[in-house]
Formats: sequence, C-alpha cells, structure tokens
Amino acid sequence: METELGKEKQCSVCKDFWPMDPEFFFTKTLPPKKNGEQNKSYDSVCKACYEIKYRKRKPGRRNNIRSTAEKLVAA
Ligand SMILES: [Zn+2]
Repeated sequence: METELGKEKQCSVCKDFWPMDPEFFFTKTLPPKKNGEQNKSYDSVCKACYEIKYRKRKPGRRNNIRSTAEKLVAA
C-alpha cells in the first residue's frame, strides 16, 4: 500500500500499518530479478508480532530453530 510517507504494509496480526522497511518487518532476500534489481520480500507480520506469535506457538521448546528471515537479520 502506498501513502504519502512511502510504502506501508499492514501487519496480519496487529492490523497496524508500518513502513515497509527492514526495521519493522523481517525480510527474505530472493534471487535478484533478471534486470539485476534487488528482490526482497517482506514478512506479513511485523517484527514485534513475529516474536509474540512464534513464542506462543512453540511454548517451552528447547530446540528453538530460527527462521531464515531471522537469521538474515542477525547476520
Ligand atoms: Zn504486528
């Protein structure tokens, strides 16, 4: 979605709009497009909700496997 502030994206959990920015959403880096453009895909859930969502889903799991998106952010 486009606003006067730039691109914004609605989080599918909190339903809030956040700037389409790696600061607010986890990103997945896809292979570059044929024209050499960077091809990034943003997660549908904002970072804050992502944490809550995945913690709730896997309560008390010792082997906490991080998603690819999280690994990319941590790197
Ligand atoms: Zn959210």
